[in-house]
Amino acid sequence: MARYIGPVCRLCRREGTKLFLKGERCYTEKCAIEKRNFIPGQHGQARKQKIVGYGLQLREKQKTRRVYGMLETQFRNTFEKAAKMDGITGHNLLFLLERRLDNVVFRMGFGTSRPQSRQIVRHGHIQVNGRKVNIPSFVVKPGDVVEVREKSRNNAAILAARDTTAHQPSPNWLEVDREALKAKVLGHPKREDLVQIQINDQMIVELYSK
Ligand code: SF4
Repeated sequence: MARYIGPVCRLCRREGTKLFLKGERCYTEKCAIEKRNFIPGQHGQARKQKIVGYGLQLREKQKTRRVYGMLETQFRNTFEKAAKMDGITGHNLLFLLERRLDNVVFRMGFGTSRPQSRQIVRHGHIQVNGRKVNIPSFVVKPGDVVEVREKSRNNAAILAARDTTAHQPSPNWLEVDREALKAKVLGHPKREDLVQIQINDQMIVELYSK
């Protein structure tokens, strides 16, 4: 599946908020949002951020899509899937996004950012229920066991990420064993588990319902 390969700090600047796409750097003063929090481009500083209605909905969708590292088609398909599920579509969408394998690896603390976690999955370091899965968009379900594969247990990037994220609490829907480099999916994520970035899912639903 294709992915965005351009400069990621521009994405945060476009959205006017931190999307935490670069791991540790996002928490330092080197973060572009700390230094240049205005829209990128020649006229970025002159452009007013005052947006309403459709513009707000569009920005919310773009922000969410960029947080999870997805292109439009894949994001739209995920929305369609959420719309067919029982319950509130916006919540279903967020739960599907949260249960993506790359996000689960990030939540486990074995990648310092979602892009890095995606790479860890793509490089075949992860297995689900004992079988290698290298598809970042794979959606885990309650009862699944996600773990670093035997041959990757000494992977320097994974171990460094685990140390860096040691202070990071695990979400309630994951039972993480940091020493064993594994986690069990206990249930479905809840709305309040989505910390760090505030997402107004209702706006995304309104945008796609036009
Ligand atoms: Fe760059 Fe991270 Fe700051 Fe975003 S939050 S601007 S990705 S350093």
